[in-house]
Amino acid sequence: MAEKQAKRRSPTMSPARIAQAVELMAQEYGPFEVERRLPPADEMVFTILSQHTSDINSGRAYNRLMERFGTLEAVAQGDVAAIEEAIAPGGLAKVKAPRIKEVLGKVLELNGGSLDLSFLREMPLTEAKAWLRQLPGIGPKSTGIVLNFSLGMPAMAIDTHIFRVCQRLRVIDARTNADKAHDVMEAKVPPDEVFNFHVAFINHGRRVCKAQRPLCEVCVVGEMCPSRKKMMAKPSATEDEAKKARAARTTQRGPGPMPHIPPPASSE
Ligand code: SF4
Repeated sequence: MAEKQAKRRSPTMSPARIAQAVELMAQEYGPFEVERRLPPADEMVFTILSQHTSDINSGRAYNRLMERFGTLEAVAQGDVAAIEEAIAPGGLAKVKAPRIKEVLGKVLELNGGSLDLSFLREMPLTEAKAWLRQLPGIGPKSTGIVLNFSLGMPAMAIDTHIFRVCQRLRVIDARTNADKAHDVMEAKVPPDEVFNFHVAFINHGRRVCKAQRPLCEVCVVGEMCPSRKKMMAKPSATEDEAKKARAARTTQRGPGPMPHIPPPASSE
């Protein structure tokens, strides 16, 4: 009991140490450059298509949707069954198609019949977040992605990978849930570093600090990780695993695909 309480009270990582972790990850997985930005309403639709599927499948679904309908205005007026058919490669099309139509309809209703959300860029961050959060099914993660990736605003988006890495590195404490983590992390990371933080931590979570078998053996921020010892003591961290991790390091380095941005349709 006393040990549990002490753990809860243990300090979280300071902003300076977080900046150092981002720098080390950027050296490993960077450089992080935005090659392409989607308009905000498109980014919002893409976040819906990205739920519970791979980047490849959600990219295909988005590109097929745009090929079939041409514009999001046409999607908003479209038949749910036709949207469902277009986005089928992304999975869960039965759930996502009505969700996309509903959210676009709500934007049209609240925004004078327009799907252009670029006005959000002119708002203070908290107001822009609140505007998006009133839309059906748009939570803090989707809000952060739209504002940061489409409009370049310093909004945090915490997905499952980033949340896990934050917990293991004790960037946040054990009582902070994923929803609260958005505000906590916005206070800890300087605005002009939010994008780098997001891309660095998501890469690290996907490629090294994996949910089941983190590759602690080759982790670039292992020296500063309070969870490393415990993770490496797990039965799965055998010598064989360690060998595989060392071999994997060569394939874990360098830039990967940019998250939250579908590949151009021509590259598929
Ligand atoms: S040492 Fe292990 S648990 Fe800690 S951040 Fe690295 S991979 Fe994750």
